[in-house]
Amino acid sequence: MGRIHVLSDSVVNRIAAGEVVERPASVVKELVENSIDAGARAIRVSCESGGVRRIAVEDDGQGMDRDDAVLAFERHATSKIRRADDLDAIGTLGFRGEALASIAAVARVRLETATGDGVGTEVELDCGTIRSVREIGRGPGTTIEVARLFRNVPVRRKFLRSEATELGHVARTVTRIAVAEPQLRLRLEHDGRALLAVDPAPALGERVAQIYGRDLARRLLPVEWSGAEFRLAGFVGRPADAAPRRDGTQFFVNGRPVQDRLLSHALSAAYANTMPAGRYPWAFLFLHLASELVDVNVHPQKLEVRFRHAGAVHDALREAIHAALGLVRTAVPTLVDLRPRTIATAAGPPVVAQLPSFDRPPVPPLGEPLPAASWSAVAPNACGAAQPRRLTQGPRVTPLAQYDESYIVASDEQGLLLVDQHAAHERVLFERFLAEASDNRVEVQRLMFPLTVELSAAENLALERDADELRRLGFLVEPFGGSSVRIDGVPALAAEVDAPSLLRELAGEAARLRSSAADAPALRHRLVTTAACRAAIKVHHALSQAEMQRLLDDLFAADSPTTCPHGRPVVFRLPHAEIERAFRRR
Ligand code: ADP
Ligand code: MG
Repeated sequence: MGRIHVLSDSVVNRIAAGEVVERPASVVKELVENSIDAGARAIRVSCESGGVRRIAVEDDGQGMDRDDAVLAFERHATSKIRRADDLDAIGTLGFRGEALASIAAVARVRLETATGDGVGTEVELDCGTIRSVREIGRGPGTTIEVARLFRNVPVRRKFLRSEATELGHVARTVTRIAVAEPQLRLRLEHDGRALLAVDPAPALGERVAQIYGRDLARRLLPVEWSGAEFRLAGFVGRPADAAPRRDGTQFFVNGRPVQDRLLSHALSAAYANTMPAGRYPWAFLFLHLASELVDVNVHPQKLEVRFRHAGAVHDALREAIHAALGLVRTAVPTLVDLRPRTIATAAGPPVVAQLPSFDRPPVPPLGEPLPAASWSAVAPNACGAAQPRRLTQGPRVTPLAQYDESYIVASDEQGLLLVDQHAAHERVLFERFLAEASDNRVEVQRLMFPLTVELSAAENLALERDADELRRLGFLVEPFGGSSVRIDGVPALAAEVDAPSLLRELAGEAARLRSSAADAPALRHRLVTTAACRAAIKVHHALSQAEMQRLLDDLFAADSPTTCPHGRPVVFRLPHAEIERAFRRR
């Protein structure tokens, strides 16, 4: 007798559940998507103990009749597609007909649904088996309750994280859906407490304001791009507002929240060299394209998609974001929010003006929406319109003093400036060096006495592979037997830097970047960033008046004078009006 047999439905469903239902958040995602597909205008999600004990999703959608209510739990039972061709033009969020079957296979489920004639159906299941089907009275809509998730799959239960972590996933999932569907009334409750409650919003910007606060929403930059094959719309954040967590970056493809490496890569490329490491930009980006240009049927949880013209999507996205960012790239941020904040004293009217805080505006953790009021002390970018380029034509920026041998105190027509001398020089050298390298005209300083450097195997390999790029950057390097190389020349911009250690550092970076499959422009950016950083004047270094003037002139002639190549700020402005206000002259 043969040893192969076809698995029973209940085993198949449990296998499918392994892919579709990873954690409580996956259940929430599937159920809410079903509600949206059913035309719901209001959805309430409530959960207990991070969703492990119980999840309930209630909607005011079209509901199901008795037959459908039972059929819905069958594997591959769907009302959304009929034929294989339909897979090429999916207009709904669900289409595989496996979510309910999968969820029911690993939990206790109760469904209540009605289409509007006052008579509804209740179906109860336990670990995939229908326990009861009853007629009930209820208004139109559907409620699905999922209790004791993974009660029959102990391994999976063990993989669940703490209640707080699972709740975080649920909250992020619901938040993303809230952003995707601004017109929806949506509520998320945990153990009876509301974590998110949003009314229908007329547009995306308003929705973002509801969730993340008006201060952030106001500072976002609109992104608009449209071409023959696709259209991009949404908002991105300024580099200075970047958050330490990734979940402020949200992509939607034809309305579906997705996590996509191609899109993320295009986003980082657009922000290259404007943000510190470990910070992630805010982005709410909606890509719309004809359904035959994207395959949504490539991931069990439908979280990933595949594009027909991936390269074109990538480039369009990068360009559109770049254009949006260009609007602020050159605006000098204000030093502080100096509107006198007052401390109330018991004795009487508030009297003490609080010292301005130099902190960056706090960025609220995502997925845990905060009331807008708790982080409203964001420093307004009062001089957002200032064009530093103009400064070089109009009255110059005048250095007044050097503070702590590290910062230049200066003034311009709008107020006082504080400039980080190292970051400023870095920015100047970076732009100059990058431009020279791109045009193949780096000025080389030949060494009177060539230097030999001993390199590790990895560094040597990187040097060999990226020899062209290093030559282009002005390093004249020759093999010198064994693991040594001889340096005959260095870029003039970095002539003061210890050449062997710089070369070693660049080779190390090239090796690291290669292993992460970075492309050639990324490699050049990185190497130029490092060289500029090494060559730039350091902090705790005294500068003459003339040196300060020269640096300021160079800085404000740069393309992006306000951030260093690593993305840290270079200059802050304290506007004149704020100074007058602080001293109560206005
Ligand atoms: P899919 O969404 O891929 O079709 P599901 O297993 O998620 O598969 O759901 C099966 C079917 O049950 C859906 O096609 C839909 O007809 C019906 N259904 C599920 N949830 C709801 C709901 N909240 N309101 C109305 N119908 C629903
Ligand atoms: Mg579904």
